[in-house]
Amino acid sequence: MPEKITMGPTGALTVPDEPIIPFIEGDGTGVDIWPAAQKVLDAAAAKHGKRIAWKEVLAGEKAFNETGDWLPEDTVTTFREYLIGIKGPLTTPVGGGIRSLNVALRQILDLYVCLRPVRWFTGVPSPVKHPEKVDMVIFRENTEDIYAGLEVEEGTPEAKKLIELLRDAFKWEIRPDSGVGIKPISETGSKRLVRAAVKYAVDKDRKSVTLVHKGNIQKFTEGAFRNWGYDVVRDEFADVAVGWDDCGGKPGSKVLVKDAIADITLQQVLTRPDEFDVIATTNLNGDYLSDALAAQVGGIGIAPGGNINYVSGHGIFEATHGTAPKYAGQDKVNPGSVLLSGVMMFEHLGWDGAAADIVRALEATIADKVVTYDFARLMEGATEVKCSEFASAIVDRL
Ligand code: NAP
Repeated sequence: MPEKITMGPTGALTVPDEPIIPFIEGDGTGVDIWPAAQKVLDAAAAKHGKRIAWKEVLAGEKAFNETGDWLPEDTVTTFREYLIGIKGPLTTPVGGGIRSLNVALRQILDLYVCLRPVRWFTGVPSPVKHPEKVDMVIFRENTEDIYAGLEVEEGTPEAKKLIELLRDAFKWEIRPDSGVGIKPISETGSKRLVRAAVKYAVDKDRKSVTLVHKGNIQKFTEGAFRNWGYDVVRDEFADVAVGWDDCGGKPGSKVLVKDAIADITLQQVLTRPDEFDVIATTNLNGDYLSDALAAQVGGIGIAPGGNINYVSGHGIFEATHGTAPKYAGQDKVNPGSVLLSGVMMFEHLGWDGAAADIVRALEATIADKVVTYDFARLMEGATEVKCSEFASAIVDRL
């Protein structure tokens, strides 16, 4: 019988064998990739005696065409009620009153962690020599930083007022023809993000957590993020994790928490990828890092993501690429991103067996060189298949 996922008294999810899971099909290529991913997820769940009662909710163009609203209240209410959901890519409406539907959903449900695992799948074409050395999990803060949307446009009365205020109150001289943005980084936001990352590292037997920041320049925002991160380790995880300075880089059996400046990190994830494991970082750094790393493993078309609030239990897993409108409805593009987001969702629900099966079957399919156009054009001797055929090939190998 279909049932709701609930949050238990200990803060862990209670997941029935037939959970009701809301989904947004997504705009553009969403019509292609969602049914393909759903087919694989259903087959893997069935293999483990589970069933998903999918519940469609609307957002984006489909919602606008049917209801006149880009993000209907009913959609938000449903995600709020059923805790865990999944979505395809959404068009960002131009002049639609909402900056981005994805950002809106994250803010409304306070999904403070953007979780992006980055690893290489055997056979995927990659621009680097040793993509297999990349196995990182990025915890990107999802609610603060320059993404808070606190910006004023050059030449407006608001910009003039803010520039004058900063000059009068702080003696800060800002060129009058400037746009100005504000970057808030709070103790609350930083600590809950690092807490989630360290807990993940401990639960999943990961070796280290690197706090990535630009604190050498932005001392009271990025630097404070780093300091608060180490405070969390000392105050809440002393028995299972330890900061670099507190152990001289020798953590014993504990998870090592270290930190690195963002620009050096972007070099070192390329040159020494095996030194990075779990990464906890602020919003903008996390945005750059996750896309750079996804490219390193050839995974732009298959990189998955999840937006999670570990306290309320809410989570929305999502394709990280856009709607690729030029390919919409052609049954052509790679369904890997939304499928692997489903794998992340299964892992989050504790369905590890079904998740591992999908990863194995996906790898076997790619190893057989049965791939969609994006991989086929980079591989020798590949058999190019349609999006739906790729899904069928994965199901055949489950
Ligand atoms: P995009 O849709 O991600 O497409 C850029 C390119 O990425 C495509 O032309 C294609 O490359 C490749 N690509 C995307 N999806 C793929 C897939 N499933 N399989 C294989 N290759 C794939 O980016 P965009 O054209 O800049 O954005 C289009 C719309 O998507 C915009 O409205 C944007 O706001 C929205 N968007 C939504 C999200 C989201 O919902 N999470 C994220 C980003 C953008 P080739 O041309 O080389 O084949």
